[in-house]
Amino acid sequence: MSTSADLSSDVRRIVVVGAGECGTHAAMALRDKGFDGEITLIGRESVHAYERPPLSKGALAVDEMALVHPWTPEQLAQAHIDLRLGVEVMGIDLEAGTVTTTADAGGEEEIPWDRLLLALGSDPRRLQLDEVTYLRTHEDAEALRALLHPDGHLLVVGAGFIGLEIAAGARERGMDVTVVEAGSRALGRIVPEEVAAQVVALHEAHGVPLRVATTVTGLRREGDRVRAVLSDGDELLVDAVVAGIGATPTTALAEAAGLLVDDGIVVDEALRTSDPRVFAAGDCASFPDARSGGRVRLESWRNAHDQAETAAASMLGQTEAHVAVPWFWSDQYDQMLSVAGLPGTGERAVLRHRDDGVLLHLGLDAQDRLVHAAAVGPGAGVAKDIRVAEKLIAAAVPLDPAQLEDPGVPLRSILKAATA
Ligand SMILES: Cc1cc2nc3c(=O)[nH]c(=O)nc-3n(C[C@H](O)[C@H](O)[C@H](O)COP(=O)(O)OP(=O)(O)OC[C@H]3O[C@@H](n4cnc5c(N)ncnc54)[C@H](O)[C@@H]3O)c2cc1C
Repeated sequence: MSTSADLSSDVRRIVVVGAGECGTHAAMALRDKGFDGEITLIGRESVHAYERPPLSKGALAVDEMALVHPWTPEQLAQAHIDLRLGVEVMGIDLEAGTVTTTADAGGEEEIPWDRLLLALGSDPRRLQLDEVTYLRTHEDAEALRALLHPDGHLLVVGAGFIGLEIAAGARERGMDVTVVEAGSRALGRIVPEEVAAQVVALHEAHGVPLRVATTVTGLRREGDRVRAVLSDGDELLVDAVVAGIGATPTTALAEAAGLLVDDGIVVDEALRTSDPRVFAAGDCASFPDARSGGRVRLESWRNAHDQAETAAASMLGQTEAHVAVPWFWSDQYDQMLSVAGLPGTGERAVLRHRDDGVLLHLGLDAQDRLVHAAAVGPGAGVAKDIRVAEKLIAAAVPLDPAQLEDPGVPLRSILKAATA
């Protein structure tokens, strides 16, 4: 799939499709790396890049929602980035080297490129039911906020990160909340069982019950309320239903163009697609993970940033392999949940219980090297431990499980000894 030729000297026009977290960061990174050709950044949404993480956290708790923008329009203009908002790319012609858009003022436009970056994000998975709200964009967040009011009852479908964050936000606004989860436990995808159990206990302490192995089989509007029929036969009369049941990568555009797609746009370690002039990054990209030897796709804020940097360098011929340690965080009530590395790659695990209430789960491979870490508890302690754990994962050296388990041995000193 990859080419070793440095094609950067003929690169004068770069088009980035998707003006979200990753695409906008990549456009700015191109300038930081000295690219002085044309950059066109095309985004379907009508506002310039904003942070999505607050949409399911702080934005639900406050009365007035303010978007957090990583860059101002002035900064983008100063960087001479041709920003086209409210414009959708409808097709890619690989042979001609163009994208076709819905133009700002009606009609189609063809935009030529020497390099193309697809930073298309992902879309919420949907239930085959009416009356369900989803959360991806700021507009979705506004619609959800309008449904949250004290004394109401919210049904959350899905006990993943987004579902649980919404549950916490709605609870903090005084709503009754019920969470149903089709799987046998919460956070089944990337959080170990012991850590997930502590998160569930936190929700229960706030009066939010979790019903596992339960799905919604029917929803029926009754006046201004909704009757939800659950798979165990139970019925709930609620004010609103929101689903956080995962996301699917936005790949239709790439697939139609003939690029290789397999749970994400398939890229190599430099984030090149099956066409070496086209790159993909962020939520929509499936990339080879050097540590696990497998192919992964991450939906995380840090990954969107890291891959934006790698993609920008690669498009300029400064081939860089993408090797960052995956990292994710979530805020629920006054606690933080954070994960580094890839789940399911460890052979065994040790648990470290810190005095401040932080529970840290450390996954080790057969050589006792750290491959995965997950923690929940007060934010400062979680952030500190996971930061060190990331470095231990990157160091990839055998560690003493007894020391890892002992909260009396600072992780930092383990790192120091491991990297000496
Ligand atoms: C509610 C919410 C909370 C989150 N919380 C966290 C968190 O706590 N921690 C964490 O690590 N991550 C979190 N994430 C995930 C993180 O925000 C994403 O991983 C990140 O936004 C991915 O960036 P991206 O650029 O790949 O995709 P996006 O930011 O989604 O940007 C993709 C953009 O491409 C546009 N687009 C798609 N197709 C086209 C087209 N054909 N033409 C033009 N434009 C197009 C889309 O409209 C979109 O604006 C959260 C996500 C959501 C939705």
